[in-house]
Amino acid sequence: MILILLGPPGAGKGTQARLIERDYGIVQLSTGDMLRELAQQDSDLGQEVRQVLEAGQLVSDDLIARMISDRIGREDCRNGFLLDGFPRTLVQAHLLDEMLDRKGLTLNAVIRLAVDEEVLVERITGRFTCAKCGEGYHDKFKQPAKEGVCDRCGSTEFKRRKDDNPETLKTRLFAYYKDTAPLIGYYHAYRMLSTVDGMADIGDVTKAIQAVLEA
Ligand code: AMP
Repeated sequence: MILILLGPPGAGKGTQARLIERDYGIVQLSTGDMLRELAQQDSDLGQEVRQVLEAGQLVSDDLIARMISDRIGREDCRNGFLLDGFPRTLVQAHLLDEMLDRKGLTLNAVIRLAVDEEVLVERITGRFTCAKCGEGYHDKFKQPAKEGVCDRCGSTEFKRRKDDNPETLKTRLFAYYKDTAPLIGYYHAYRMLSTVDGMADIGDVTKAIQAVLEA
């Protein structure tokens, strides 16, 4: 199964991707995670990516396409994969079509998480993750059961993304509306798009996605 999760920053793509990964045994491929890893490298490319990420802009289509093409060729993607954060531009969508074609693979569904813009600032600025296992938390909506201890792995270290601040979010949202939102029309035209209410509780969103996948 090959899926795309589409939605603005803070729509819940990462959260849902992790749950789908667990339930369906397909790999979550988050281009944001891959780039954050790359940004830690002490190289020219690492520095370049770090600057783009911190500014909330998009890295080049070319770099992203090479990263994804390489990644989906690996063994753990044989059962399928879930694209979280890619494609983000029409050029990337075309590159993905070509990539899948070349590899003899077919896209099964594009799931759009629809959310009201008003909730995004609060969702984004309050979120943090376990530094060890990546479990997601939120200052207001999802604190660990025991303060300072990860529910999932027991780690006591947490981290926050540098680009999760109101100022950078403005640039990220601008990029979303300008470059990514046109993909809604693109996949709708190909009858690939299903829209799910991303304002519902996490569990209800997961159920709605499952219903799409089972349909
Ligand atoms: P995310 O974790 O999906 O919110 O992505 C974090 C940041 O990584 C974005 O704000 C972009 O700077 C960059 N990024 C992630 N995916 C892409 C992509 N497909 N194309 C361009 N830039 C991306």
